[in-house]
Amino acid sequence: MRTVDVEKRLSTIADKVFCASPLTADDGLFLHQHADLPTLGMLADHVRRRLHPEPVVTYIVDRNINPTNVCVTDCSFCAFYRRPTDPETYVLPRETIYRKLDELSACGGSLVLMQGGHHPHLKTEWYAELLRDLRARYPHLHLHAMSPPEIHHLSLIDKCSVDDVIARLKAAGMDSIPGGGAEILVDRVRAVIAPKKCSSDEWLDVMRRAHAQGLKTTATMMFGHVETPADRIEHLIRIRDLQRETGGFTAFACWNYQNTQGTVLDAEKSTPATYFRVVAIARLLLDEVPNIQASYVTQGAKAAQLSLRFGVNDFGGGMMEENVVSAAGTYELVQLDEIERQIRAAGFEPRRRNFYYEIVDARGPVGARAEHVA
Ligand code: SF4
Repeated sequence: MRTVDVEKRLSTIADKVFCASPLTADDGLFLHQHADLPTLGMLADHVRRRLHPEPVVTYIVDRNINPTNVCVTDCSFCAFYRRPTDPETYVLPRETIYRKLDELSACGGSLVLMQGGHHPHLKTEWYAELLRDLRARYPHLHLHAMSPPEIHHLSLIDKCSVDDVIARLKAAGMDSIPGGGAEILVDRVRAVIAPKKCSSDEWLDVMRRAHAQGLKTTATMMFGHVETPADRIEHLIRIRDLQRETGGFTAFACWNYQNTQGTVLDAEKSTPATYFRVVAIARLLLDEVPNIQASYVTQGAKAAQLSLRFGVNDFGGGMMEENVVSAAGTYELVQLDEIERQIRAAGFEPRRRNFYYEIVDARGPVGARAEHVA
């Protein structure tokens, strides 16, 4: 395509962004293939400022609980799971979960992210009992639990509907559903990286049904493996279409696949520039998803900080992890300090939030300021 034609098309797309007109899938693919990073950053930042004019970047203090690493789904990118007969399998003892949540509560945390393997014998009632127990013991914690593939798996092993599984888990205390397991919502891609996992339609169906039952959820995308740019755009459009139908997604996060020891899938490592490109296009296409999260853990602090100029308005979780909490129990405070420092260095005020993006910070909200410029 001639340079003049590229510039003309980019200008037309930019006009749409400035008029708050929705972009098409073709617009998204054109941006992916032809826009330079500064242009993408400028456009995504425009949308971010329209949705979040205040100079604030939020984050949440949360903790990840993986109740079991037993899984029968064998995703080729996963180094976490163990087959049921493996000697390294575990199901977390209840006392271990209590200790983790006690620590989370002690440092003012507000959310538990609970996801794990697809265990062949742990059924819906096992998870419902766990959720009931946690709800009773920790009424102040938001239980963000059970990704769509887990719920789909439970519907299979319990021989019941997805609606039934969601209703039982919700009645037991599940507050919302995390957007894990989406990877890329294109079945040709899923057939390569996660052939035993639920299909794209099934992932979206769990979310649709959860939204219909009044639950809010998040959405994710893991890219940088066998998918094409067109697949990434299709994924984003499918999330956008469901959001238009239900309005149930609170936030979107994406990250690039990391080759790690123990994974079967071997993909060329994508660069931080690809991450900025994809997250900016996500901000531009997901016009009705209110929040875009940085992927602090996978991208690192600097890339997360820079993503705040590519449409991101939230730093995600200041997540406490068992293996990184020091013996003195001070790591989580260091990490939160570091998150706040990174946010301030990018020119924003940090504020703690809850799952619903309400500010829950002793410092209170920050008023909009006219001088909020890049
Ligand atoms: S379903 Fe989850 S735990 Fe199981 S292999 Fe896939 S990514 Fe890993």
